[in-house]
Amino acid sequence: MKFISTTGKGPEINFREAVIGNLPEDGGLYFPTRIPKLNKGFLKEVPGLELHEIAARALSEFCDRDIDKNSLEGITNRVFDFPIPLVEVENGIHCLELFHGPTYAFKDVGAKFLAECLAHFNTSDNQKTTVLVATSGDTGGAVANGFLGVDGVDVVILYPKGKVSELQEKQLTTLGQNIKALEVEGTFDDCQRLVKSAFADKEIAAEKRLSSANSINIARWLPQSVYYYVPLQNGMQDQVISIPSGNYGNLTSGVLAMNMGIPIRKFIAASNANDVVPRYLRTASYDPSETIATIANAMDVSDPSNFKRLLTLFGSDFKKIAESLFPFSLEDSEIKDTISKCFENNGYLLDPHSAIAFQGLKKLSNQGVFLGTAHYCKFLPTINESLSSDTDVPDFAKGLLKKEKKTIRMDNDFAFFKEFLLSQ
Ligand SMILES: *Cc1c(COP(=O)(O)O)cnc(C)c1O
Repeated sequence: MKFISTTGKGPEINFREAVIGNLPEDGGLYFPTRIPKLNKGFLKEVPGLELHEIAARALSEFCDRDIDKNSLEGITNRVFDFPIPLVEVENGIHCLELFHGPTYAFKDVGAKFLAECLAHFNTSDNQKTTVLVATSGDTGGAVANGFLGVDGVDVVILYPKGKVSELQEKQLTTLGQNIKALEVEGTFDDCQRLVKSAFADKEIAAEKRLSSANSINIARWLPQSVYYYVPLQNGMQDQVISIPSGNYGNLTSGVLAMNMGIPIRKFIAASNANDVVPRYLRTASYDPSETIATIANAMDVSDPSNFKRLLTLFGSDFKKIAESLFPFSLEDSEIKDTISKCFENNGYLLDPHSAIAFQGLKKLSNQGVFLGTAHYCKFLPTINESLSSDTDVPDFAKGLLKKEKKTIRMDNDFAFFKEFLLSQ
């Protein structure tokens, strides 16, 4: 399989080059030159296979030139090493629980797959790579965990002091080994600016090989398509699937799975107040506005980068896009209301992101599958504001809270950050 920019211009390159290159220079995103079709025999076998076996089969054509079959099976075995159950939350409304991985969020799969691919490609050269990650809480942990213990890679995480939940902070700051956490006196935007400045700095570039493990990397995008085989694995076909969306990586990987032959009826593009895609689906006009801070903050994206992949998947045909995607969005107060009602009615706790998808599915279809993208315990302050009672951290996460936080505190000061990087 070859890859090319979503602009359709530039060279066709192999998987390895697309993963290492991260982004084409022309402002597009890497995309396969054709969408492989799954064979009917394989689709019939899916219910009898383990998820890591499904993943190896589903992804093999994309990586065929650069990762041999045995290595790919090893990689998917290590990436898909936790359960992804389908749980009926309410009559006919099923949650695809993507949050049983190491950091209790769906990004664990993409981040780990990317780390495994880079480790596989890295074995032949000796220069260390430093991965820089700015996080508002949810994403950084998945990337750091994916790279934990990977030879030849150091990870530096920047997060805004006091602006992530206690559990998220422990996930970022207790890993040790090749992972370092910087606690920045500032906002998430400040953290992002520091990272951008580091990439632009010539002295750092001369000394260090920096990488961003960016969420739009093709190796983070492709393996997410495997989630959409799970309903079929559980004997459920042709479902409406509701997806809490920010950068639209998850939703577009679902469209990829559908185009490869997984039977899916329709998707719900469920957003928070940053509703640029739902508005596009209603009006045919793509009109990004300022980013709004919400309680579902992993979805606070006003101009999603994967919109380009969405257009490419549908050949830029608005009619086809609008036929396959239902628009839906919720404001903060409605998210809290949904968390509270679902707990009252079903005894099931939703995190703020999954709550949007749950409500979208109830409103627009009344049956089907919604994606549970994070465990509620990562967002306890919001959960406790939504419910009248106080909720405790579940037992499986208590050990993490006891671990000792290790950070390097810093002001929002590029000179300090630069010196830190050069001293590593
Ligand atoms: C990143 C994230 C999302 C949004 O996923 P995209 O692929 O960016 O659309 C939703 N929920 C949670 C918990 C996330 O971390």
